[in-house]
Amino acid sequence: MTLPRLAFAPAPPPLLPVAGTGLSYPVRRIFCVGRNYEAHAAEMGGTADREAPWFFLKSAQHLHPAGADLPYPPGTADLQHEVELVVALGEGGVPWGWAVGLDMTRRDLQARAKEARRPWDVAKDYEGGAVIGPILRNFEPAAQELALRVNGDLRQRAPLSDMVWDVAGILRHLAGLYAPGPGDLVMTGTPAGVGPVGRGDTLEGTCAGLPPVVVRIV
Ligand code: MN
Repeated sequence: MTLPRLAFAPAPPPLLPVAGTGLSYPVRRIFCVGRNYEAHAAEMGGTADREAPWFFLKSAQHLHPAGADLPYPPGTADLQHEVELVVALGEGGVPWGWAVGLDMTRRDLQARAKEARRPWDVAKDYEGGAVIGPILRNFEPAAQELALRVNGDLRQRAPLSDMVWDVAGILRHLAGLYAPGPGDLVMTGTPAGVGPVGRGDTLEGTCAGLPPVVVRIV
C-alpha cells in the first residue's frame, strides 16, 4: 500500500493525559450539553430542558490542555468561564474516564447569535475554547461539588446532583443522535455563576476526587 503524500504536515492529534498511567487519550470529538443546571438556565434567561438534553460541539483541535497559558481569544470583549464535569468515552460510548473542564465562551458573540437566531459556533468553538484537565479512570459521579475559582475567589459551586440530566441520561440521548465511542468527550453543562475573565486571571476548576483544571489567561 502506498502512503498518501501529504501537502503539508498534519496538525498533531489533540491529547489529554490520563492521570497515573503515562497514557494519553486521543480526542476525537467534544460534545457539550446546554443548560443542564436549573440555576444556570435561569441566569441565562431561560429554563432547563426536561424533555431531552441538547448538544452543541467543539472541534477536537480547539482543545487546550490544562496548565499551559491560555491566550485571550480575538473577536470578543466578554470571555466567560463555565466549569463542567467531563466524561471521556470508551468502546460502546460508555464512560472510560472523567475530568474537569472549562467551556470557555465568547459570551458577547453568543448573545448576538442568539438574538439573530444564528448558530453558536463562533461563541463556543474557537482555538482554546475547551480547556480540560487530566483524565482519571476511576471516579463515580454522585453529589461531589463542582467549583470554579478565579484568582482564588469562588465564582461557581454546585453539587453534581444538581444536573437536570445525569450522565446516564445524557449518554442515552447522545447515542440516539451519534455513534459515540473512544475519543469522544462530553462536557455535561455548567452550574450558575458564570462570568467574565481577563488577561492575568488564573482559573481553577475542581471536583472532589478529580485532578483540578488550572489555566492562566494571557
Ligand atoms: Mn457549557
